Amino acid sequence: MGHARQPCPLDRSRLVEMGLSYGAKGVDLSIWYCPRCDVAFVLLSPSRSEAAPSALQWHRRDGQLELREEDRGRWEELPRQFGECWESNVRHHVGLFLRGRHAEGVCCQLDGTPTPVLHRWRDPAGTGWLMSWCRWCKLGFLFASSADNGWECCASVAWDAGLGRYEVVKEYPTGAGHALGPQLVARLPPLPAL
Ligand SMILES: [Zn+2]
Ligand SMILES: [Zn+2]
Repeated sequence: MGHARQPCPLDRSRLVEMGLSYGAKGVDLSIWYCPRCDVAFVLLSPSRSEAAPSALQWHRRDGQLELREEDRGRWEELPRQFGECWESNVRHHVGLFLRGRHAEGVCCQLDGTPTPVLHRWRDPAGTGWLMSWCRWCKLGFLFASSADNGWECCASVAWDAGLGRYEVVKEYPTGAGHALGPQLVARLPPLPAL
């Protein structure tokens, strides 16, 4: 169950997932954020229902994300304390994302451990890239940065010591639509002794 990722209803951008609660109080709830529109969306549906969820929009007013007037009625059907808690979560999670998006404190995409940055570079188009390394998973993660989305993981790579090069293990879609060319992986410096 749960809510499938949807594009931003306002500009079709890729939304960033901000948190979820499935099943509590009989509802499935998930929080999504569009960095380009600076609008948060809360998807709400009855728990275990196949019906399309309602998308409640939170727009910034006087510096704070506020639920649109027209969505207030649907929100107030939630048990009061649950609604208040998730109202505060919407603002909290979006605030954390906005404060942290340009920080280089990147994590392993598999286990969430903070990973050291091995390389930083800028591509010919001016996009900043970095590669971090998870010693536990033995995988490198390539991140690219954009003004709206900050650092986003584009791919994981493994080091093939025999061939002396990296192989792409998995590519991840990004909000900024970063393209991972074969050149980019081929030009990565060899894995240092860690
Ligand atoms: Zn948008
Ligand atoms: Zn890892």
